[in-house]
Amino acid sequence: MNVNDSEFIEGQLEAMGYKLTKDMNLADIVILNTCCVRKQVEEKIYSTAGIIQQIKNIRPDLIFIICGCLAQKEKENFIKRIPMVDMILGPSQASSFAMLLNEYLEKREKLVVCNNKIPFNLKGIPIKYSHPIKAYVQIMKGCNNFCSYCVVPYTRGPEESRPTEEILAEIRHLVDHHYKEILLLGQNVNSFGNHSANHDSFLTLLNKVNKIEGIERVRFITSHPKDFHLDLIQVIKESKKICEHIHLPLQSGSDRILKKMNRQYDMQQYYTIINHIRKQIPDASITTDVMVGFPGETEGDFERTMQAFKNIQYDSAYTFIYSNRENTLSSLFNNQIDLSVKKQRLWRLIDLQRRISAIKNKAMAGQIVEILVEDKSKKGIDNQFWGKTRTNKVAVFNAENGSSDNDYLIGQLVNIKIIDADAYTLFGEFINVKTK
Ligand code: SF4
Repeated sequence: MNVNDSEFIEGQLEAMGYKLTKDMNLADIVILNTCCVRKQVEEKIYSTAGIIQQIKNIRPDLIFIICGCLAQKEKENFIKRIPMVDMILGPSQASSFAMLLNEYLEKREKLVVCNNKIPFNLKGIPIKYSHPIKAYVQIMKGCNNFCSYCVVPYTRGPEESRPTEEILAEIRHLVDHHYKEILLLGQNVNSFGNHSANHDSFLTLLNKVNKIEGIERVRFITSHPKDFHLDLIQVIKESKKICEHIHLPLQSGSDRILKKMNRQYDMQQYYTIINHIRKQIPDASITTDVMVGFPGETEGDFERTMQAFKNIQYDSAYTFIYSNRENTLSSLFNNQIDLSVKKQRLWRLIDLQRRISAIKNKAMAGQIVEILVEDKSKKGIDNQFWGKTRTNKVAVFNAENGSSDNDYLIGQLVNIKIIDADAYTLFGEFINVKTK
């Protein structure tokens, strides 16, 4: 979501005549767009601010802006500890960035705007997509769920959905500019439309997106198990465009911890969704987010999470150590877990998932899969490219031998044959460019 906010900020700056430079010494404006999900970011802001201060000592007219959800959460501390900051903007201000910058340029007075109650409106806001073939399309903002550990409902405000027609218009525009893949973005996409009368539901939106000619792949993130409609599985199954990948955060395998997290589902409900996916789309990949060391998590609770991983056999998982976030309910809970215990649980879980991922990926040897080629190999190996499968797995492949320039493959859908794999990557051989 923050990456998408940065794309809106860059689009507006470009429309104002600014150009992107990654060298702070050359910049007229330095922007730190922050995320508060991980704690280390805070320290990084203060150390980067020290570097910016040195540049500002030489060029006092350099404009320094901190924005995003951490800015919203920490604005008082930033004002106190980074007095030279010129603008502090919350995540909801990304869409009005140009207007606020103009206001600052006119008055040259510190500007702090962190208001997540403003109406959600992206219509006509310039955007600079950061990737040439795949794009994020924001469909809603905010979250109403108040999981006890999470700051998002406080920083991004309540859920609000974008009008369907506006979303479809953005996707059609992307098709006209040769985009192949879109990722529908929201904190809780399954509740799209739920909070306003006469709004399309997420399933209706997907059906409409599915009818747009020219887009090859549609993904969405993130699904909340409590709002996951089982009919969604059928929609994915019947669609040629919606990719067979479902990211379904688990957070914990223990009902007791799920309750303390205020996740509003239990393991039985979660397994019901998994079983339906496995039955209706056996080749779908399922990935998850999980947290270890939530306050009061016993060894028994953690073992339930390990057991859930063994039962569900995720394709991959984002694993996190719980840390207290200011102003959240769980930061007030007793029985905080020792960092050493949290780390040890995290490594046990990562090790388990690594073994599961490796087995699942290796079992794909011999299969022919479709890849959307993103770029040349990151290792710089001649004639080697990488992309992602429809199931969101990274695949590296060698292009045709004997041809010196295969760069035309970037941005194409190609078929490759899987030769080998490890826990994180599939390795294959090029077969052909996919024809319609
Ligand atoms: S669903 Fe829970 S974890 Fe996700 S953004 Fe909302 S409050 Fe945070």
